[in-house]
Amino acid sequence: MQDASDNPPMPAASPAPPLAGLTLVATPIGNLDDISPRALTALRGADAVLCEDTRVTSRLLARHGISITLWPLHDHNEEAQIPGLLARLGQGARLALVSDAGTPLVSDPGFRLVRAVIAAGLPLHAVPGPNAAVTALTLSGLPPHPFLFLGFLPARPAARDAELARIKAMEQAGLAATLIFYEAPQRVAETLAALAVALGATRPAALARELTKRFEETRRGTLAELAASALSDPPRGEVVLLAGPASPEAQGQASLDDALRAAMADMSLRDAAAAVALGHGLPRRSVYARALELAALQKPAPE
Ligand code: SAM
Repeated sequence: MQDASDNPPMPAASPAPPLAGLTLVATPIGNLDDISPRALTALRGADAVLCEDTRVTSRLLARHGISITLWPLHDHNEEAQIPGLLARLGQGARLALVSDAGTPLVSDPGFRLVRAVIAAGLPLHAVPGPNAAVTALTLSGLPPHPFLFLGFLPARPAARDAELARIKAMEQAGLAATLIFYEAPQRVAETLAALAVALGATRPAALARELTKRFEETRRGTLAELAASALSDPPRGEVVLLAGPASPEAQGQASLDDALRAAMADMSLRDAAAAVALGHGLPRRSVYARALELAALQKPAPE
């Protein structure tokens, strides 16, 4: 077994010098003081800093007295920039990559560049730091692991609901993880309502907004309660949404429902209930009652 002394931590007073290659540098998610000495060293020592919006990164660098060449790298130019950046890295350049906030690549640009750097066998480093998803998870009071970070749901309702149905199917297949979503403030109420429909109104959940900033707030409750609160008191600013893991009862109910629906497609309601009750080791009477409920739900609404 490895002893902690086998890997002594780097002394805090001597952050590593900037290294040749691409360094992914995490930056604050709101509070400009949330930047590590190693991050500042990496930025100060870079030949250039690749960033999403030069105005945002200039503000951060100015606050820390850093003056450095900035090159924009965003979703629209990342692919085109890759050959030139690989050539510079091949000549030994020290490039840092930041996003507007938090950890680069996490719902932010940089993944395509990172893949190209790895494929070219060039050096790649990371200076870890703030991330809104993990910060919200720690504040939520929901089980911290396993968690599943899903980023932004599609904005269009049909695509969003299809994605939620896919997540629900994963839960029915056994996934029991805290789910984390990023969301734009104007869509929070609608997304919470969609989550309540897809995952269940009583599922424990949390909404964390404006983390590390003046109006930081975490709301906790069921998905239905949070959806109502987002309507009556719309959460302003940046928001992370979290839903707790599916309960074993909900998963059991879902698999029972699936088995019943499949059986009811080929058999009478009574025979389907009997077969599924046997397969699940459940009382026939309660499975029959559930089969009646499902049959009523499946009936087309009267004209
Ligand atoms: N790369 C970033 C990270 O590591 O967290 C995320 C960038 S993504 C483009 C922006 C989204 O992250 C926002 O829409 C919001 O959902 C979330 N976010 C970023 N900063 C936040 C904050 N201070 N409070 C709450 N959510 C935040």
